[in-house]
Amino acid sequence: MSNPHAQAVTQLNKVAKLLESQYPDKKVFARAIEKLKKPDRVIEGQLTIVMDDGSQKKFQAYRSQHDDARGPYKGGIRFHPNVTKEEVMALSTWMTWKCAVTGIPYGGSKGGVVVDPKKLSAAELQKLSRAYARFLVNDIGPWTDVPAPDMGTTGPVMSWMVDEWEKAKKEKSGPLMENALATFTGKPLGLGGSQGRDEATGLGGAYILEKLAKELGWQRKKDITIAVQGFGNVGYWFAYHADQLGYKVVAVSDSRGGVYLESGLNPAKTLECKKKAGQIQDCLCDHQQCQVSLGKKISNEELLELEVDVLVPAALESVITIENAPKIKAKHIIEMANGPITPEADEILEKKGILIIPDVLANAGGVTTSYFEWVQNLQGYYWTKAEVLAKLRPLMEKAFDQMWQLKQTIKQSARIATYAQAVKLVIDSLILRGRV
Ligand code: NAD
Repeated sequence: MSNPHAQAVTQLNKVAKLLESQYPDKKVFARAIEKLKKPDRVIEGQLTIVMDDGSQKKFQAYRSQHDDARGPYKGGIRFHPNVTKEEVMALSTWMTWKCAVTGIPYGGSKGGVVVDPKKLSAAELQKLSRAYARFLVNDIGPWTDVPAPDMGTTGPVMSWMVDEWEKAKKEKSGPLMENALATFTGKPLGLGGSQGRDEATGLGGAYILEKLAKELGWQRKKDITIAVQGFGNVGYWFAYHADQLGYKVVAVSDSRGGVYLESGLNPAKTLECKKKAGQIQDCLCDHQQCQVSLGKKISNEELLELEVDVLVPAALESVITIENAPKIKAKHIIEMANGPITPEADEILEKKGILIIPDVLANAGGVTTSYFEWVQNLQGYYWTKAEVLAKLRPLMEKAFDQMWQLKQTIKQSARIATYAQAVKLVIDSLILRGRV
């Protein structure tokens, strides 16, 4: 794929053309756009850890802080062999937009370490996590930059980072003046994590589905067919809530393939069965029973090409490409994974008239609930799951409404309308601060 940061800049240029007329001072507007094309800073360095065999190994690490006009930088930490500087720069830019979309008071950042975490022992993973937190001792904090898990990192990784950051901070500056729990989100429940975080991204997507149904005037939810690629955290909870809300989930898949059932699957039973059987293809469950003869096994490629009302990629990035885009028959796509459609494929789908709800809006329930975690950590007062999820719904709905209204006004795709909405909020903050 082309340089992802160049892609983020191209998107920004496109949106700038649509927003320019709203700003009387063209010079200020141009300065704001130029500023947003580059992150505020990229911190980079090498982390050295002692491996289990006694040897020393170095790992390249990054943290890109894109913009903090709306609040502290916010973004995950990726442990993956393909991490590059350009990738974290692009991802930090997209985080600025994602946080602005639901109106949470954060800017955008992203971190990464070039490593395959599957090749590390548990002890090595802990050492690397601690080394990363120590590396950023002066660059992150509850009011500066708030990291979270991303690909290859987990709740336990955040716990080690909280502990190490706190320790390193005390070593450098004496008594701890900052709230270490509020410095990282996505923590386990036992260490300041938030109730409801697990299902928040999928549920947030289901709220978006409900809004879409309302706008498009879908009368009978049980006739609306949905196919979900990926049956992990995001895919499962999206499918579960869509089913609970009365939609017909006809297909789901994981990395080993999927299943199709014309009359509708029961995601909860399917997950239960998958846990016992080991793979989804051995689980065809409707609302009464699990029986492989009920439907058929399908491949991941077949799932993407099903004739359904809503296709939900919820697994990996770049799964819809220039090759398979012409074969997509879904009427609508809700991007629950990050970047599941390549820019070239996006153009093809748009020409085909497929309505795509972009990732920065559809999966923003995750970062929004991370924000709730941060708020709870700062106030030292914790909410019930029902309280957390009730706070999520209005933010997701408002974000959708604003996008939809703008989409009608500027007559552009939902993706462009979402970016325009977010970029405008960030530019307005830069101007209010007098930074540009
Ligand atoms: P996960 O690891 O829990 O689940 C990923 C799922 O995808 C698994 O079921 C896996 O089997 C499946 N999968 C892997 N390769 C596949 C393939 N080739 N075809 C089909 N399925 C495949 O991850 P997750 O947390 O559910 O994240 C999924 C996506 O959502 C990622 O793009 C992630 O960046 C994005 N996302 C996650 C969150 C969150 O809160 N977890 C928030 C925003 C965005």
